[in-house]
Amino acid sequence: MELTRLKGFQDLLGPQARTLSHVEERARLLMERYAVGEIRIPLLERIELYQRSTGETSDIVSKQMYTFTDRDEAGTTLALRPEGTPGVVRAYIEAGLDRSDPEQRFFYSGPMFRRERPQKGRYRQFYQFGVEVFGRADPACDAELLVMIDDLRRDLGLEFQFEINSLGCPKCRPAFRAALLDYGRLHFMELCRDCHERLERNPLRLLDCKIDVKLAEAAPKSLDYLCEECRKHFASVVGMLDAAGVRFVVNARIVRGLDYYMRTTFEVTSTNLGAQNAVVAGGRYDGLVEVLGGAPVPGIGFAIGMERLALAMEAARTPRETLPRVALIALGEAAARKATELARELRALPLQVELLSTERSLKAQLKRADKIGANYAVIIGPDELARAAVQLRDLGASSQREVSLAKLAAELGAARQ
Ligand code: ATP
Ligand code: MG
Repeated sequence: MELTRLKGFQDLLGPQARTLSHVEERARLLMERYAVGEIRIPLLERIELYQRSTGETSDIVSKQMYTFTDRDEAGTTLALRPEGTPGVVRAYIEAGLDRSDPEQRFFYSGPMFRRERPQKGRYRQFYQFGVEVFGRADPACDAELLVMIDDLRRDLGLEFQFEINSLGCPKCRPAFRAALLDYGRLHFMELCRDCHERLERNPLRLLDCKIDVKLAEAAPKSLDYLCEECRKHFASVVGMLDAAGVRFVVNARIVRGLDYYMRTTFEVTSTNLGAQNAVVAGGRYDGLVEVLGGAPVPGIGFAIGMERLALAMEAARTPRETLPRVALIALGEAAARKATELARELRALPLQVELLSTERSLKAQLKRADKIGANYAVIIGPDELARAAVQLRDLGASSQREVSLAKLAAELGAARQ
């Protein structure tokens, strides 16, 4: 086949698509309980939005973005969104909320695009579900977002590890940054090639280097440099997480490379996954709204990698509640008409009902019922129709009996319990 899909892009069929939708549905339900409203934003934006927010020197912007020139006169450069936060912040400012009604909470859900090296759990188009809260600088807000993620974890029956850190603020970060720079220079010969570049541009990134792990672990820690306010803020977050029963560890290596990220940062990994085990990343970005041209409004958010969440579900084999499946078998035109009506009634119970091909023999249809894993076959032929009844076959128990049409819904309804 010539017209194959692109490298790093996926087709999701049947159960795989279902798992992804399932985790999204559960996350959406949770948003209602947390009173977080939805926001839908474009997949395409001007490239400058990401250059200014994600940062020109980040891997995402410098190497991974899909960009192209538009056909307009100005030749505007467009980018497929590599993450959700910049677009949400732009929309928030563009709607004037930063000035008129700054306290807002939004969630988004949809595909992101990054041209990175594909592997399991790492794709060039992947789905993120994210939450952004504006206008709240207090620690209760940080804790609430982490509790929210823990609620989702619990709802899905998964095990997560929460790692949190505080990066300080514009007041205390310079001292930390300087200490890291000194440390990096001192160990320059031992650093990897990427870190040589990172050192002057963005020394914080030394900490999340996947190669220089030992050096990163021994590096100065932001928590040791926090000012009094940042220390209090972090202690409050920790206290609230303890009170709410969220288990976490403090990890000094959890950083975000950009200047507007401050105070609380976190990463959540799934113990159900192997290599690509980071499922959620987030943090406070109090300077970002201003960087993108808005008022100085604080913000905090996170993004969930939905494929990784789905993979964790599969690895954990968390049984999902599914409706009992009924194969409806009709023999003859009149029975097929009745079956069409009956299918509708049964689906409303609710049951999962598939009306099989009426052009096939009874034997062929029963074979099909087995193949699709139906729990019940409901058979209706001319004789049954005349008696206002059906044959109800329990495919698990291989037993069959006649049930009147009037009683069928009640019988199958009971099967749902
Ligand atoms: P990683 O360290 O795995 O590259 P990241 O730091 O680039 O992640 P973020 O940009 O913070 O990740 O995105 C948040 C979450 O989105 C990640 O924790 C991960 O679950 C998911 N994610 C990021 N990139 C991809 C990708 N290419 N394919 C699938 N999921 C991804
Ligand atoms: Mg990445």
